[in-house]
Amino acid sequence: MTAPTPAVHDRIRSLTPDELPAYVYDLAALRTHAAAVRAALPEGVELYYAAKANPEPQILTALAPHVDGYEVSSGGELTHVARAVPGHPLAFGGPGKTPAEITTALEHGVARFHLESEHDLTVLAELARRVTPGTRIAVLPRFNLPMPDDTLAASALAMGGRPTPFGLDPSQADTVFRLLTDGTHPHLELRGVHAHLGSGLEAPAQLALAASVVTWATDLAARHGVRLTEVNIGGGMNVDYAHPESRFDWTGYGEGLAQLTAAHPGTVLRIEPGRALTAYCGWYATEVLDVKDSQGEEFAVVRGGTHHLRTPATKGHDQPCAVLPVESWPHPWPRPTGRAEHVTLTGQLCTPKDLLARRVPAPGLRAGDRIAFALAGAYAWNISHHDFLMHPRPGFHFLDSDSDSDSDTAG
Ligand SMILES: *Cc1c(COP(=O)(O)O)cnc(C)c1O
Repeated sequence: MTAPTPAVHDRIRSLTPDELPAYVYDLAALRTHAAAVRAALPEGVELYYAAKANPEPQILTALAPHVDGYEVSSGGELTHVARAVPGHPLAFGGPGKTPAEITTALEHGVARFHLESEHDLTVLAELARRVTPGTRIAVLPRFNLPMPDDTLAASALAMGGRPTPFGLDPSQADTVFRLLTDGTHPHLELRGVHAHLGSGLEAPAQLALAASVVTWATDLAARHGVRLTEVNIGGGMNVDYAHPESRFDWTGYGEGLAQLTAAHPGTVLRIEPGRALTAYCGWYATEVLDVKDSQGEEFAVVRGGTHHLRTPATKGHDQPCAVLPVESWPHPWPRPTGRAEHVTLTGQLCTPKDLLARRVPAPGLRAGDRIAFALAGAYAWNISHHDFLMHPRPGFHFLDSDSDSDSDTAG
């Protein structure tokens, strides 16, 4: 069980049943967390936020004082983020960039391009020549590097270290470095190397991976007689949904990165976490509609479901949650009440995949009790299949005790 922060708890209790389900974000908690992450990182390490984890404008704005920029992976994210937090540096990555997206990115003056293939490089070079003839565009080829064995095994979502559509194969590294250093593409400037290889790694695995990426990149640069000013070592810092109280060891990670930067003076390391920055600030709140027994297992059906909070379905985990008991029962009919020690929480969708959390210890759970699902601030609403079954959208509440300017928006 994972209790919501007092501000979130009070807001969830203040909503009427018809105002549920709702996403409630604690922006003050987000600010505190992001400031602590920033403080743990040494000089010479830049922090970009991977916007795809949660691109709500209020989230992007709350992060702004604590990050060096934003990583965007589509033309849509690019224009959205540029509008939400104008003036902040953007890095544009992602496989399958269209010429129109690249043109938009050039027109927006994005700070860096992460190149995903030789074709990506060719198209960018030609468009840069036409769209921004007077500027040199900073590029970081992204590589799908081998991962240290134990790191690959530990990774929940491997983006590299095995065949994937992401980045360039290391066998192309010399060709691409030659193209970027021999004058073939005068409108591009080789700034460094990018490698986002996996998600769900704890600090020691992240550090081992970072060291191997930096060593590989430095050797490559040395072969071509260039010095790398930047190495982007990606995101993927773990969020442990099974143990929501345990957090990624940012302090240990920062100390390890300090050693790495000390060994490579003049090279900026950049990280671009998404999930580990915003997962903790969001809750998906709802109420129990019905409780029933099915062949020996107790189920509670809640208002909403995985069409709003797809995270447990896509990752195959149980979303951590807390029960907020509600004593009043306004209806003339009897109140469905559980009898088992454990209850499986499901949504309103007509599919057995609509599972939010299995066998939650919640004896005596009743219809009308509220449930707050935690760790719903990243890869939650924005990855969900909202229109399936045409249920109403949740409300959105951005709590901001700092500026006292709570903003509620309809979904
Ligand atoms: C998704 C992604 C990230 C962020 O990953 P998290 O697991 O959310 O930290 C960073 N970089 C790239 C290139 C990505 O695709």
